[in-house]
Amino acid sequence: MHIGSIPDIANLIDGASRPAASGAWFEKLRPADGTLLCRAARSGAADVEAAVAAARAAQSGWTRETAVERGRLVRELALALRARREEAAGLVAEETGKSTELALGEVDAAVEMGFFVAGEGRRLYGRTTTSAMPNRTVMTLRRPVGVAALIVSFNTPLPNYAWKVFPAVFCGNAAVLKPSEHTPASAAFFGELCQELVPPGVLNVVQGLGPEAGPPLVESPGVDLVSFTGSAETGRWINEHAGRRLAKVCLELGGKNALVVCDDADLDKAVEWSLASAFSNAGQRCAAASRLVVFDSVYDEFRDRLVAGARTYDSGPVISEGSLERILRALEGANVIAGGVRVDRPGWWLAPTVVEDVAPAAALSCSELFGPVTILYRVRNLDEAIGLVNDSPYGLTSAIHTSSLHRAMRFAEAVEAGVVVVNGGTHGSEPHMGFGGVKQSGTGWREAGVEALDVYTEWKYVNLISDPSMA
Ligand code: NAD
Repeated sequence: MHIGSIPDIANLIDGASRPAASGAWFEKLRPADGTLLCRAARSGAADVEAAVAAARAAQSGWTRETAVERGRLVRELALALRARREEAAGLVAEETGKSTELALGEVDAAVEMGFFVAGEGRRLYGRTTTSAMPNRTVMTLRRPVGVAALIVSFNTPLPNYAWKVFPAVFCGNAAVLKPSEHTPASAAFFGELCQELVPPGVLNVVQGLGPEAGPPLVESPGVDLVSFTGSAETGRWINEHAGRRLAKVCLELGGKNALVVCDDADLDKAVEWSLASAFSNAGQRCAAASRLVVFDSVYDEFRDRLVAGARTYDSGPVISEGSLERILRALEGANVIAGGVRVDRPGWWLAPTVVEDVAPAAALSCSELFGPVTILYRVRNLDEAIGLVNDSPYGLTSAIHTSSLHRAMRFAEAVEAGVVVVNGGTHGSEPHMGFGGVKQSGTGWREAGVEALDVYTEWKYVNLISDPSMA
């Protein structure tokens, strides 16, 4: 695929490149300047059906491979991705508008996930347990779920694919990946790379617009598991519809993550981490720090330094015109003390934005904007900070900056979040660490880590009853 020539990006079904059955395409524009990058297949129910059928047909043969062999192939996939890291990062930088440096880091993170799954994953440990019955041996085996629908967000595309595709296929499932309509090129690249190593039909890629290609996949009776990373709104729809036929559903959703700055914090580090957590990747991280909760006595100094930093921060563009307009609408009437305006250049650039004086119950405090916007809150003490952090519909990640072990531990225990960081940013997970949230940030699953194996396998309890007299 040569991005300079603006190719048409087709689906990948049963190992072959296929345009949408309808012949329709949608246009993908570059966020950095609004120019046309490529066209991608505008898939619908017929394409989804073909992809699910290919996955179903491939799954039983794939499951019969040993876990060690599947692990070896995942390792080969990771190595193949590493060998083409510059090319992969170039595609991601073009289709998302992020810097090549950031995109390279994401390719490396995706590769590391492959190595983790191929290494730790392939042990696929079960358990043995005791029994009240003599001569009964009980053990557990992990079995694949079947056909997995993998639906992901655009924000860090390659790690998003890697976090789902690597454990899904390693565990013996066949999969249909539905990437975001904002990142068709990286998905096609990743899919083609996989076609070189895994049998046809084990990984299929269906491009398309969310409301058109997503529902037929979620509602397909041929899909046993829906693993979704995206907004709470879409997640709720998926849960309801896949839930009707009792499919297994794993949801990794949004966040309104808080970073707390205490009066004993190292302010230089607190400002540095707040800027990176709020504005890197244009704030388009589920783990972005969109709420900064600051102790009264250091509030003014922290705010002045944060605003100075925000004014020179290069956050990159947001993903689309629609996203930029949505964020600007949400900011109307707010007390904006930095940014808050569209940058005067082509593409979808929002100046890094800091807002003050927002009530904790206001819509701006409770809804995820998924852009370079953060809100400052003033608190008197740790109890007030914890109360404010927890006063949110979301509970994904959190951070506290303090030099007190006691405050850090109290925060870690009291905060309602799936991840807690002391003296760092709100983002920065690694492949061996389970990641996920509470409340509206997810439905209790953890991705990455060995926890990912729980998403993509079912436990089977095997009872062996022997008779020593027959020995
Ligand atoms: P989104 O919900 O709009 O879209 C996510 C995916 O769902 C896309 O592939 C989209 O095409 C598809 N989709 C849309 N409607 C669908 C439907 N009705 N049925 C099936 N699929 C459908 O989210 P987004 O804007 O791509 O991503 C931003 C969101 O993702 C944020 O809320 C962010 O916090 C979240 N996110 C969460 C994590 C995590 O691990 N918890 C990681 C990254 C992003």
